[in-house]
Amino acid sequence: MMRAMTLHKPGQALRMETRPLPAPGPGEVRLRVSACAVCRTDLHVVDGELDLPHLPLVPGHEIVGVVDGIGEGVTHLALGDRLGVPWLGHSCGHCVFCRLGRENLCDQPLFTGHGRDGGFATHVVAEAAFCLPLTLPMDAVHLAPLMCAGLIGWRSLRMAGDDAMKIGLYGFGAAAHLIAQVARHQRREIFAFTRAGDTQAQAFARTLGAVWAGGSEEAPPVLLDAALIFAPVGALVPLALQAVRKGGRVVCGGIHMSDIPSFAYRLLWEERQLLSVANLTRADAREFLAVAATVPLRVETTIYPLERANDALDDLRAGRLQGAAVLVP
Ligand SMILES: [Zn+2]
Ligand SMILES: [Zn+2]
Repeated sequence: MMRAMTLHKPGQALRMETRPLPAPGPGEVRLRVSACAVCRTDLHVVDGELDLPHLPLVPGHEIVGVVDGIGEGVTHLALGDRLGVPWLGHSCGHCVFCRLGRENLCDQPLFTGHGRDGGFATHVVAEAAFCLPLTLPMDAVHLAPLMCAGLIGWRSLRMAGDDAMKIGLYGFGAAAHLIAQVARHQRREIFAFTRAGDTQAQAFARTLGAVWAGGSEEAPPVLLDAALIFAPVGALVPLALQAVRKGGRVVCGGIHMSDIPSFAYRLLWEERQLLSVANLTRADAREFLAVAATVPLRVETTIYPLERANDALDDLRAGRLQGAAVLVP
């Protein structure tokens, strides 16, 4: 048997359920979950801010686990292998986006903890081709936040451009705390923007190497080359545009944001660019895990037992966490 924290209706708390252990189908593996981090996307799922293909549903897409069942046709994995399961759980392989190497935009994707059951559970079944081999010498709790916060943070940082040396991070949560360290390792300067008055998060950002930290309404001491927005707050977009130089980029890293208020065209003018990040590709994951092997990453986590998933979600929603919440079954 397995246990899973299950969503029956958006807006309601997850319920612990016991079900028979699922058998992996062709091309799939079953993992015993070692740890699953909690992402802001899980909050959007639970709070009903994203369309859900079906209910009930087990959230969770920052999974580290160990293979304990192998489906037909899977020859490259063995029982006991440690794997990561990220948000992109399946892409079709033949739509125009998949063929262009942009599987993150696939027309018929399946996302872990959304279109298929995720890792807020003791076990999860995943498509083997979308699981990530994990060789980093880190324990599961510290690896789990890399599976989305790290990956999406990396894709966002890539979009900022290699020439962006002064980077603003709006919302200093799980993604920002990881990517600040990567950016700093690449000799870029980090400017951290938090909720006004959140001096704890600002101090946390400084300990991770931010050269400046302040409230998101504040202007940074210099114009930025790029800004990455991880907080789901549309009002940050004009603020970030105002903080970047001519030709600078503002990258929205989240899957959902409140509406962006209207703003004067001059904030966008002078060839500033406004971009969004959607999902991830397996290439992003390979690239980021290789980079993570070279950066001494400090991964800040708060551990919750699986049955306290609702508390983890509440703490994330209220901004009571530093770094990432991680569920351990
Ligand atoms: Zn496709
Ligand atoms: Zn995520």
